[in-house]
Amino acid sequence: MRIGAHVDPTDPLAEATARDAEAVQFFLADPQGWKAPKPREDAQRLRDAEVDLYVHAPYVINVATLNNRIRIPSRKLLLGHASAAAEVGAKGLIVHGGHVNAGDDLAVGFDNWRKTFAYAADSGGFPLPVLIENTAGGENACARHLDALARLWDALGDYEVGFCLDTCHAYAGGEELLGLVDRIKAITGRIDLIHANNSKGAFNSGQDRHDNLTGGTIDPELVVAVIRAAGAPVIVETPGGVEGQAADIAFLREQLGTAA
Ligand SMILES: [Zn+2]
Repeated sequence: MRIGAHVDPTDPLAEATARDAEAVQFFLADPQGWKAPKPREDAQRLRDAEVDLYVHAPYVINVATLNNRIRIPSRKLLLGHASAAAEVGAKGLIVHGGHVNAGDDLAVGFDNWRKTFAYAADSGGFPLPVLIENTAGGENACARHLDALARLWDALGDYEVGFCLDTCHAYAGGEELLGLVDRIKAITGRIDLIHANNSKGAFNSGQDRHDNLTGGTIDPELVVAVIRAAGAPVIVETPGGVEGQAADIAFLREQLGTAA
């Protein structure tokens, strides 16, 4: 089982070494901005690396929204990031499930997701797996509660879609971690990546506030149980820089009985 961390994008491979990580996730552009990713000079080095790479799409992307001025650029930005992520040899592009605005019909949001994959298919399809990540907050989210997730997967039925399970988002979003992997797999058929995070916010608080694995409001054993059940690669998106994340990775290896 590959275990790693979300790191600064300047030199992801050096960040992996510093944490003794077998995988890293990073951004290819400002996560709060709309700028398309620039080609990376180290693309060849990244492609050749032993470390598994994952790219997280910007947070501003919301392909579900009924607001054209957000949805249309979101689609383009997502496709741009998919190309750039494939260029560096990433194993997957993680993108949040998104939401519709209050009063808008969530059914349209799910259909907007379908249209996003149709839009990508028009130019040959996404060049790498797109992993939709569950989110913690909001009442109109596409991937917070499992009933919504089931409707999203129904809408995306024709397409190859991956899933990224964030333990902090699930717990803060109000989904019990015990047995969660089975309940999700019954919907998606797969879990491609685990974001292993503890939560500063309480159960069902709707707060997206990550904590180190042995801190926070989640029993760390539950996070370990989720990872074991999923059998998927793991990325910690926890605070504390190199030290904090290296400790989280070491904790998981010890708990899972997997040496680096
Ligand atoms: Zn996450």
